[in-house]
Order: sequence, then structure tokens, then C-alpha cells
Amino acid sequence: TNDSSQHSRIHSDKLLDGLLASGYEEESCISRFQSYLYRKASPHKPSQYLIYKLRKYEDLHRKCGVHTKAYNRTMVKLLRSKNHSAATMCKYLVWTPVNGLGNRMINMAAAFLYGLVTDRVLLVQFQSDMIGLFCEPFLNSTWILPKDFPFNNHHRHIETYQNMLKKGKGNDSKGIVPSVMHLNMQHTSNDPKMFFHCDHNQDLLQQVSLLILQSDQYFVPSLFMTPSFNTELIKMFPEKDIIFHHLGRYLFHPSNEAWGIISRFYQAYLANANEKIGLQIRVFVPQHTPYERIIELLLNCTLKHKLLPELDKQNTVSSIWENQTLKAVMVASLDPVYGDNLRTMYLSKPTATGEIIGVYQPSHEDHQKFHDDRHNMKAWTEMYLLSMSDVLVTTSLSTFGYVAQGLGGLKPWLLYRLTSNQTHDPPCERDFSVEPCFHISPKYNCEGKTVEHLSSLYPHLRECVDYSFGTKLV
Ligand code: GDP
Repeated sequence: TNDSSQHSRIHSDKLLDGLLASGYEEESCISRFQSYLYRKASPHKPSQYLIYKLRKYEDLHRKCGVHTKAYNRTMVKLLRSKNHSAATMCKYLVWTPVNGLGNRMINMAAAFLYGLVTDRVLLVQFQSDMIGLFCEPFLNSTWILPKDFPFNNHHRHIETYQNMLKKGKGNDSKGIVPSVMHLNMQHTSNDPKMFFHCDHNQDLLQQVSLLILQSDQYFVPSLFMTPSFNTELIKMFPEKDIIFHHLGRYLFHPSNEAWGIISRFYQAYLANANEKIGLQIRVFVPQHTPYERIIELLLNCTLKHKLLPELDKQNTVSSIWENQTLKAVMVASLDPVYGDNLRTMYLSKPTATGEIIGVYQPSHEDHQKFHDDRHNMKAWTEMYLLSMSDVLVTTSLSTFGYVAQGLGGLKPWLLYRLTSNQTHDPPCERDFSVEPCFHISPKYNCEGKTVEHLSSLYPHLRECVDYSFGTKLV
């Protein structure tokens, strides 16, 4: 009947075409059940193989999850033999936080994918500044690293990936692989060659039972470059430019508290608009970048591309009364000056098109703060609200914007990244994909030779629009 086909459509919308598992209790994570009502259905369906891998992963996570028999046994074994390789029933990837929330989220998605292709269970080290942000992503289990995790304290010496590479140079790699290892993929000034995208090192890493990851990067392109992962990844993601869109919507469900803020803001300011415009304004060097330059850039971009209307300078009251449409503009920025200026501007004169423009800025935190749960809650809810826009303008190089564009499946207009009292033409450029940019992609092959064109390492890589040293999959 019609009824049952409608019912099954709602069911498949709710579960994002099979991306999400069924069986969750609604009250524990309301956003998981309601978010589909707030967003257009994504035109990108997850592949059957991705769905199969996710369900398989959820089983593994339950089997090896925190304080299960398998987990307890593995930890005991690792405590005894952390410096030499030991076969364990379960393997783990522990994610640790560095930098801002946008960086953390794109990196967690990459870490999860790494876990998926290497059969590792992902556990995340959340301090109080991240505990209340998200729902548990994996059915009937937790991804939060427990307080009594035995490798939490920094007194124990844990071998590093870099050190293993050094030791392994030139001689046989046997015997150098520890069972617990730090994998630091942070950007450093001399950026040693990591060879993370190379099979010979992935073979070594495969022998490590517990990897502790420290990175703030979206290193998914590295995984595609690795020959032994490549076939599997292409099967999971036949559309290679839509990976974060799937993984992000799978992993990051706003907690009930976050969802309360998001849904109330949405209902109050965005729901009735004919069109929703998200503006994300990140000023990286505010002390050297006058806000007037940023506003100039923003208007040059949005007016030129007709994302926002010009003012009607001749009249004080609009002559157009029929078919008036409402555009809601949501501004995310640390500084209140951007929302205030736009609001004042659109109240001062009618628009040339007759459109009504409402401008809303949920917060202005002034500067980036660390170890602050309220601050992170604002950041997370704003990234999510931006992702609910119809049109998105973001700032080049900002991972905060990457999360919004990825969750929303939106190709953003990338504002040029101003860092001084100058302007730039063109003011913005449209991105060719919704994927985050990997800022520190390898520029050498597995023999260590520098390569001129990244696509000679992997044909589906392209330079990012906002950062020519960075890479994206296409
Ligand atoms: P990126 O530095 O732009 O790549 O983004 P990150 O998210 O990694 O770090 C910036 C951090 O500064 C965010 O996580 C927030 O804590 C804060 N922040 C920056 N811009 C905004 C904003 O528009 N709104 C809010 N609420 N916080 C912001």
C-alpha cells in the first residue's frame, strides 16, 4: 500500500539510506532520529559495501569494546609486551585531541576510516571539553577511552613511529616493531618523510596492536594512495569526493543538549526563510587584518555572485510588495562585528530585489579557547547550523568550514584568506568538491623521490582551491 511505502521511505530517510544502523533508543540521541527532518535528503547514497563494512565494524567494536573480555585480555598482554610485537585478539586505534574542534573532527573521520580498513577499534580520548558534544556513534557500545586505560599516563615510555622508521633504516625491519606505538602525524617545521602512504610501512603498522594517534589532519588521501588499501577504499567509496559527507554523518550526531540548541535556533531564525545562507568568517591574524577589509571582501564575494542582494540606494522603503522572499543569513564568527554590520546594512535600505534579509549570529567568542566545554558546544552547534544552509560561504583553510560543508554536502564559496590590511581579487572562489582539504599531503613517492605532480602518485588527487600545497580526492 501507499502507507507502507511511505513508511519505508521515512525509515530509509531517517537511517540516511542505510548509513546508520537501526536499533537505537530514540531518547538517548534525538538528533539521530530528527535531523532528517531539517535537511534535504542527500543525493549521495552510501554504497552497499560501505554499509556492509560499517555493520561489520559495529560488531567488532562490540566484541573488542571497552571493558569487554577481549579488551581486558588485550590490555594485560600489551602491558607485558609493549616493546615487542605480540599477537592480540583485538587491535586499537586511540585518537587523542590536538587543536580546534574542526581539526579534531576531520581527523577523527580519517582515523575512523583508517580503523575500518585495518580492522582496528577506534577509541577517542575526550576530556570534559568534548564529552557532552556527540552521541555514541556505535550501537550498544562506547567509543570513549576509559579513565583506567593503562597507557594513559605519560610515565610509561612508548615507542614512536618516527623512531621506528629511524631504527629500521637500512636494515631488516624484523624485531623493531613494538606492540604499542605513538603515531604522531602533526605538522612540524622540518616535516620528515613519513611514508605513511606506503605499503612497506603499513605492513609494519599492521603488526602494532595499539596505535595512539596524534594528528589534526584529514589524511584520507594518504589512505587512497596506499596500494594495499586502495581497492577496498574504492569499493567502499565509488564516489571519492564524498567521503567525509558519509563518515561525518555516520559519526557525529549532536548530543541532546547540542540538538536542543541547534533545533531551537533553527526554528526561531531559519525555518521560515525561503533561502538560508551560511557565512563563516574566520580571521586568522585579527590584529593585522582590519575588519573593514574583511567586510569589503565578503560583500565583493556575495554581491558579485548574487548570494546576497544589492541595496536599493534610491528608496527608503521597498516599492516591491508582492512575492517578497525572506533570506536568512547565519553568520559564524568569533567577532560580533560581522553580523552587526550586515544586519545594520540590510536594515538601513531596502534591497534592489525586494528580498528581506534577516541576519543572525549565534555567538561571538572573541578568541579561540581551549579546555572549555561551553566554547566547544558553541563551535559544534554553529558548524552544524552552517551545514543546514542552502548556500555556504566559508573561509579558505578553515577546518571549521570543512566540517560544515562536509556534513551539509555543500560546495562552498571560499573567501580568500586575508592576513593584512589588503584586499584580494577575486574575493572568493567556488570549491569543486565538498571534501575537506588534506593540508600536508606527501610530495614524494615510496622511494623518497620528490614528485612534481601529485596525480602521478595517485590519479584522483587534485590541488585544493584554498591551498595549493594541499590535496583532495576527486
Ligand atoms: P580552524 O582553525 O579554522 O581550522 O578551525 P578549528 O575548529 O580547528 O579551530 C578554531 C576554533 O576556534 C574552533 O574550534 C572554535 O573553538 C573557535 N572558533 C573559530 N571560529 C568560530 C566561530 O565562528 N564560532 C565559534 N563558536 N567558534 C569559533
